[in-house]
Amino acid sequence: DIHVNSQRKSDLDEWVAHYRSFAIEGQTANYIPALRNAHLSQLGITILEPGGTMIKSGDWDVPFTLQSISKVLSFIAACLGRGISYVLDRVDVEPTGDAFNSIIRLEMHKPGKPFNPMINAGAITVASLLPGDSSHKKLEFLYELFENLLGKRPTINEEVYQSEWQTSHRNRALAHYLKETNYLESEVEEALEVYLMQCSIEVTTEDIALLGLILAQDGYHPVSKEQVIPKKVAKLAKALMLTCGMYNASGKFAAFIGVPAKSGVSGGIMALVPPSARSEMPFQDGCGIGIYGPAIDEYGNSVAGSLLLKQMAQEWDLSIF
Ligand code: GLN
Repeated sequence: DIHVNSQRKSDLDEWVAHYRSFAIEGQTANYIPALRNAHLSQLGITILEPGGTMIKSGDWDVPFTLQSISKVLSFIAACLGRGISYVLDRVDVEPTGDAFNSIIRLEMHKPGKPFNPMINAGAITVASLLPGDSSHKKLEFLYELFENLLGKRPTINEEVYQSEWQTSHRNRALAHYLKETNYLESEVEEALEVYLMQCSIEVTTEDIALLGLILAQDGYHPVSKEQVIPKKVAKLAKALMLTCGMYNASGKFAAFIGVPAKSGVSGGIMALVPPSARSEMPFQDGCGIGIYGPAIDEYGNSVAGSLLLKQMAQEWDLSIF
């Protein structure tokens, strides 16, 4: 009801104003030159409920690039295009406890199967598995999924794409290694092009809140009222978000926040709360949450965004456990 929602909105405004200042404990993702100059103190959020109720606060409408949040989309797309078992033969579903761009386990654990699709090694592999025999066709398959979910064609931030293409030495190294071990299905440059393009898709918190909401509803779209992602794939994506979505801080997120979430180095976090059987729960029908705060911590997660999500989870009892 309106009273409860206006209370939530004012809580949220207060928390956004408060946690904004914590951004100074982080930095923008300066290893990607085009992300260096983001405004550290920006913080925004959209919460979307199935009935259409929306709460927005702060810099909710500032565009940012998906970065690693795109890994959820490309994983879903690969499962749709190639089937779950085909994809899971080439990328595992185990958390690593290592940094998102780490190369170490590829060599440590022969034969070098990437541990999960939420880290770069796994995501570059997944990019190569998308249907189509060119980077153009693979991207088109991904863009069609994006359009199905969000009702619009994706916009690419060319500056971010070029910036990362020119500096992505570690991703190149990962891709070459994966090519050598036969996990990459396309040429190295092609997989990198797809991966870095998907990372450069521009969104706002409203867009990723809608993606989160669709996943919260096991792939059922609240607007088109269609099952846009098969339930099995949606559940898999959520399990991966919970166990691997915040990289080597995923355990802490599960312990202290307790909802599936996926971050990106531009400062986005896509999270969701599944529907609850208990009628006294806030967001009983579930919700999608999109957050943007460009200052990131040592793990690559938004500093202010993580604190905001933690506050919400604790105040509103959102943990799924
Ligand atoms: N494009 C970034 C990279 O590959 C994505 C990483 C991230 O968001 N964690 O390094």
